[in-house]
Amino acid sequence: MTDQVTAATAPVAEEVGRMYDRMTLLAADFLGAEAAHGYNAHLGYWDTPESEFTFEEATDRLTDVMAERLRISAGDRLLDVGCGVGAPAVRLARRTGAAVTGISVSQEQVARANELARSTSLLEHVSFQRADAMRLPFADASFDSVFALESMPHMPDRAQVLREMRRVLRPGGRIVLTDFYRRPAPAPDVHPLRRTMGSTTAQLDEYPLLLRAAGLRFTEMLDITDETVHRSFAFLAEQAERMRLKLENPEATCYFNPQAVIDAPLLGYLLVVARRPERG
Ligand code: SAH
Repeated sequence: MTDQVTAATAPVAEEVGRMYDRMTLLAADFLGAEAAHGYNAHLGYWDTPESEFTFEEATDRLTDVMAERLRISAGDRLLDVGCGVGAPAVRLARRTGAAVTGISVSQEQVARANELARSTSLLEHVSFQRADAMRLPFADASFDSVFALESMPHMPDRAQVLREMRRVLRPGGRIVLTDFYRRPAPAPDVHPLRRTMGSTTAQLDEYPLLLRAAGLRFTEMLDITDETVHRSFAFLAEQAERMRLKLENPEATCYFNPQAVIDAPLLGYLLVVARRPERG
């Protein structure tokens, strides 16, 4: 069972959107307008413990590890579900020649992502709009691939989002996503991430079932916890200290220094690849 937010809470998508509006403004305060332009809002990926990638390089590397599995080429239509401020979508468009549409529930993010697209020569190939993944405002079979980098944890209902992804995918099209899962722990299973960031964790073994129920075929699942979580959290803790970030509430702490509020050993990270069957 997915650790779902109950129906008694206010609409999750709107809350998450407001949270990302606040975090986007705070990032601009902390990092300065320039640094806050087009940053990656996701974990870094280090192929080996010896990798000397900076955090920034490692966050781009995670985009690339996912992109390799999308198998897209010039002219393909790609949907980025949960686009943040646009850095992954712009990178994908630049490196593949695909036409990328990004969606986010945060208006602040969408505005910045569109600014980023305007500042590149990619304006015709990349666009962003405010939309909820639970009800995608796109026609059936209108994309060749779907990409969701660290947005699944915020979805009120993973099954519904996967059904929507399948609907907008052409037959044979692929989905590549990442998600957090809860690792078994001897300690009481309380997950601060859930309270402070409008997120839930998946179960390690639920994706094959979720995908099948949504009419998708399971292609690949990788546990990328070791390549991502610990080093990313350590970097963010060190950055918060170095920049003396004023993290005045649990929400901001969770975003800018997650190690301080999340029990990191309980958090696992998954990369999942699926496809819509050619028929059916
Ligand atoms: N993929 C981006 C941002 C990751 S942060 C990056 O890697 O930089 C999570 C993103 O998911 C945010 O942009 C947030 O607005 C988006 N999101 C959360 N819930 C959503 C929903 N219901 N529909 C669409 N986007 C959503």
